[in-house]
This record gives sequence, C-alpha cells and structure tokens, in this order.
Amino acid sequence: MKFSEIEYIQIDFEDIKNKYNQLTEELKNTNNKEEALSIISKINELNVEFDTYYSLASIRNSIDTSDELYEKAQAFFDEVSPKHQELVNNYYKVLINLPFKEELKNELGTLLFDRIDLSLKTFSPEIIEDVIEDNKLSTEYSKLIASAKIEFDGKILNLSQLGPYSEDNNRELRKAASDAKGKWFCDHINEFDEIYDKMVKVRTRIAKKLGYENYVQLGYDNLGRTDYTPEDVKNYRKQIYETLVPIAQELLEKQAKRINIDNPMPYDYNLDFLSGNAMPHGNTSEKVEKAKQMYDELSKETSSFFRFLVENELMDLETKPNKQGGGYCTYIPKYKMPFIFSNFNGTSGDIDVLTHEFGHSFQVYSSKDIAIPEYIWPTLEACEIHSMSMEFFAYPWMSLFFGSDEEKYKYCHLKNAITFVPYGACVDEFQTYVYENYNATPKERRMKWIEIQKKYQPHLKYDELDYYKEGIRWFAQGHIFGSPFYYIDYTLAQVCAFQFKNMMDENKEKAWDTYVKLCELGGSKSFLNLLKEVGLMNPFNDGCIEKVMKPLREYINSIDDTKF
Ligand code: ZN
Repeated sequence: MKFSEIEYIQIDFEDIKNKYNQLTEELKNTNNKEEALSIISKINELNVEFDTYYSLASIRNSIDTSDELYEKAQAFFDEVSPKHQELVNNYYKVLINLPFKEELKNELGTLLFDRIDLSLKTFSPEIIEDVIEDNKLSTEYSKLIASAKIEFDGKILNLSQLGPYSEDNNRELRKAASDAKGKWFCDHINEFDEIYDKMVKVRTRIAKKLGYENYVQLGYDNLGRTDYTPEDVKNYRKQIYETLVPIAQELLEKQAKRINIDNPMPYDYNLDFLSGNAMPHGNTSEKVEKAKQMYDELSKETSSFFRFLVENELMDLETKPNKQGGGYCTYIPKYKMPFIFSNFNGTSGDIDVLTHEFGHSFQVYSSKDIAIPEYIWPTLEACEIHSMSMEFFAYPWMSLFFGSDEEKYKYCHLKNAITFVPYGACVDEFQTYVYENYNATPKERRMKWIEIQKKYQPHLKYDELDYYKEGIRWFAQGHIFGSPFYYIDYTLAQVCAFQFKNMMDENKEKAWDTYVKLCELGGSKSFLNLLKEVGLMNPFNDGCIEKVMKPLREYINSIDDTKF
C-alpha cells in the first residue's frame, strides 16, 4: 500500500481505554501462562492501533503544518498520549507481579521485565508536577533559541541562518559571525543560566523523591540503560581522552595547515577546505535514482528494501512550504512501514539522509516481524549504530553522488566522525559534573565547561575569545538542556560504526552479514548483549578504542589531504 492510500482513522480513545482496562483486569486474574500470552497479544494490538495513528498524524502534520486535519490530530495525540502511557504502566505493573512471571520470561525474554522494572522505578505520582515543570523549562529553552534575531551582513538572522557565514573562506567574516553569535548568547546569559539552573534543581528534586542520591543514575535509568553504569562511562571517557584525543588533534592540525592558518581560533575549524566542501550533483529525483543503483549493488536486502520505500512513497525528502524542519525516520506499526522525512538543501547532508536515515529504516524493517512490539527498536545508542554504519557501507558508491570529489567527501566525513567523539565525551563529562554537583552556581558551571572542553578539545582556545570566555559555548547544545545524558550515545554508536568500517575493509561479506544480523535483532537484546551476539567489541572494555582507531588512523593518514 502506498503512503498516500493509508486512511487516517480518528481513534476513539475512551473505547481503547475501556478495552485496555478490561484486558489488564483479565491479566491480573488469570492463572495460566497460555491465557496470559493471549491477553498480552490483544494488548499489543491495542498499542499497535494507537501508535499507528499517532505516527500517521505526526508524519502528515510535519509534511504540511497548514493542513488542519492533521494539526488537530497531532494535538489530540499530544493530549491523550500521557493517558495512554498510564494505561501501559498499569499493564506493566500487573505483568511483573504475576505469580508465574518466571515462566513468561522464557517466552517474552528477561529484557522486557528489566525495562519494566526501570520504568516503574523512575516513576511515582509524586513527581508528576516536577516533570511538568521540567517539560515547561525545555519548551522555554527552545523558544529562547528560536527567538534569536541577530543583525548581520545587513540582515536579521536566526542562529541557523548565521551558520553558512561560519564556514566562509573569509576569515574576518568567520570571526564576525562567531562574535555575533557569542554576543547574542552573552546578551541572554542570565536567561540561559536561569533555565538550566531550574532544570538541574527540578531534576535533582525528582531524583531525591524517587530515592536516588542525585540525578545521574536516574538519567541513565530514564534512558533504559540496563547494562552499563556511570562508572563504565567514566572509564570509557578516559579511553577517549587517552587514545582518541591525540588522533583528533593530529587531524585538526592538518586542517589548519590545509586552510593556511598559523594560529587557528575556534571560528576557523568550520572551514575544511579552501576549495569548498564536496557537493552532491543532481536534483532530488536524480539523487534517489543514484541511491537506487547503490542499494541494488550493495546487497539483495537493500535492493528490495529501497525499492519498497520508493514504490510506497515512504520518503518525503524535499523542502516545501509549510513543511517542518529537520529530518527523522519513524515507523507505522500496523502497516510495518518505516517512513523517512527530511529537508534536502543541496549539501552533502542530503546524501547523509539517504544513508543515515536509510540505515534506521532498514533496521526497523528488518526487525518488523518480532512479535513483541517493545523489541522492534533497541535503546538509542544501539539505534545509531545501524544509521552511522550505513554511512560507511555506502562509501564505495560515493563517486555516483560526488563525482571527482568522492575522496574529499569521504575524508571530511571520517574526519568529522573522529573529531566528534571527544566533543561527545566533553558534553557527557560536563553533565556528570553538573548533576553530581547540583549546588554549583551557574558561573561555576560555565567555568567548568571551559576546563572540560580544554581537556577534550585542546585546540579550541575559547578562553581567548570575547563572549566565549564566559563559558557559554554549550548554551547552543540543546541535548544538554532537553535530553540529559543522551549525548554519549552518539559516540558509543560511532565507535561501533568504526568497527564496521574496519571490518568491511577486511572482509566485506562478513561485515554485511554481521550488519544484517544486528538489524534483524532489533531491540530484542540490551546494547551490550546485541554487540556480544554479533561479535562487536564492547566500547567500555579497556583497549577497545585503541584497537578500533589503529586501522582508521592508518586509513585516513594514507589520504593526501593537501590536494583537496
Ligand atoms: Zn540517527
């Protein structure tokens, strides 16, 4: 069925609620496993129904925000989804208290029960008001960021419109753009400080109400991390600091040489080549045609799946009036269809959508037949492995998109991937400091940021720059405000994707088979058990990063970057 042919049906939430409550009651009163499994599968069907129309409403609303039908539908789901979550929680509570739950674990896997334990541990009616306050603060932050109106180059620009100036060949212009941005953040320093300070306080309060010492472990539990701890992540950051930071510095020194700068300042590092970045050729339909060729040649699985996406209109790629910004991949459970949304803008980012978001969609399609809906998607750090690795699997076809700039694209892509990891560790170490030292003042936090950033990104001399010496650079990093402790996930996934890159250079077939197996497992296992199952190294183990980086460093250093 084509996406446009899927009919949107307005669900009757009262009806779903009554059925849900009735089934939950039946589950409570049953005394045998077979009957319980049959009730669970009926509950799953209700969830599929709810999630399907929620997903359809969100997709169609994001494609055309002026369409009133879907604007209303979206508002309806925003309103009822916490109520649906409450039904799910009630069902979970009954499930984990069944006297024969051990028998059910054999059928449903222990992971579901571990996750339920976590979700119950992280919730209590006592915290509802605090959670609402936290959400309001996140909205306040987003509004503040969106309100930026910066006078520059004779225009009034928002933060993303200022972006291209920071990559300009003209150094004075880059500096001016950086100053304008820094000044705007400094002009609003009290507002950012206040929002974040309130966030730290409310999150700490929630943690204490739930019996935690501070927010750190609660943050991990909220992310469903069942098999690693803040201590593991601390040790992982140490590996990054000792092994990856020097390699990143080497690449950044080369970059400064390439763009002819003797004493590089932070605003210089957005410029990679004096000759400009690699740009993909062709319009959207030409890019899709090339992607089709790429996925035909990559494997039989990707060939049929990409055709499935195209034939069923499951990608909305082009920027259009009234379309929301950004990009995502989501899933429509009843029809077992992924959906890719993006805004092409003619840069190499367009190709990243066709590889990265395609990787997400390929995973969810590969795991669509897992009978337990909770196991279709894995936790977030595992999700990004599929997408980031697909970016590497696509390397041999980059000449289709970039022509003679193929190598330039690959060099820059890999350099950005490597230099990103220390930044990710910096964001994580900062948040750990913040929530462990929840009584620190906003100024102490900002000074700590400078200290931590110097450790992981010693090339960035922000303390020598007006405005930035106030320690405000992280105000622009939305995850620190809205998604605490999530950021390290990108680095964990990146280290796993690097392993796929190394594996494909050694044995293409083995790498591909391993990847397909990982995608098929979906979320049926925890992060570390997924890695174990397919034979990937655990990033938390000492020596992992060193092993992963050795061949990558050789590969990237074998490319003569002075020719770009
Ligand atoms: Zn992603």
